[in-house]
Amino acid sequence: MILTIGDKNLQCVRLQLYLRATGHYKGLIHGEFTEDVLNATMAYQKSAGLVVDGLFGSKSWNSIIPKVGRKMMLLFIHCAASPEGVNVPAENVITWHTMPKPKGRGWDRCGYSDIIELDGSLHNTRSFDQDDMISSWEETWGVHGSTLLNGNARHVCYIGGLAADNRTVKDTRTPEQKETLDTYVEYNLLRYPDLVIVGHNQVQAKGCPSFDVPTYLKGIGIDERNIAMWGKLYK
Ligand SMILES: [Zn+2]
Repeated sequence: MILTIGDKNLQCVRLQLYLRATGHYKGLIHGEFTEDVLNATMAYQKSAGLVVDGLFGSKSWNSIIPKVGRKMMLLFIHCAASPEGVNVPAENVITWHTMPKPKGRGWDRCGYSDIIELDGSLHNTRSFDQDDMISSWEETWGVHGSTLLNGNARHVCYIGGLAADNRTVKDTRTPEQKETLDTYVEYNLLRYPDLVIVGHNQVQAKGCPSFDVPTYLKGIGIDERNIAMWGKLYK
């Protein structure tokens, strides 16, 4: 897909993240191919010895992808879609993801990097030095999208996200879970100052994580450059 001025989609999100990673884009991550993105594209093409035409196509992608590698650029927030007031131990989520079908999902590892239980306890399914170990099948962009950014993402999930009827989308975060999530977000921003935090419902038509992530992040004082500023974008 060739990207150029006027485009607005998840590929443009990817492009902005990549151009930020190579130091060519200083703006916010909003998924729109604006004048600033055009300038960044041309600056990149010039620095990489490519034809400077402002069109971001396969030659530019092939050039930029190895430069960015597995750099951490995204933090996704999820919910487990479990009913309010019921704790699901992290171990059960891991089992559910990794057990063979049809009982489980049959994945080779848990789809979440970290799980926050009702009491606020944080459970790493992989350690913080294994950020690049997320699989490409993960349930956000790996399967349904074409942005291929799962290798550059970490995924945190809180237990809950549905009302007690087990159906209605609801922000069920306990005060303890909120506190842990706030700390978790801040910790990851210290590790990766360029990180962009995004709700699953910003890239797929679903409720997860049952709250508006940009609003939440602004509410705890996170800078806009670390917020996914595109509202909702999916095909
Ligand atoms: Zn999700």
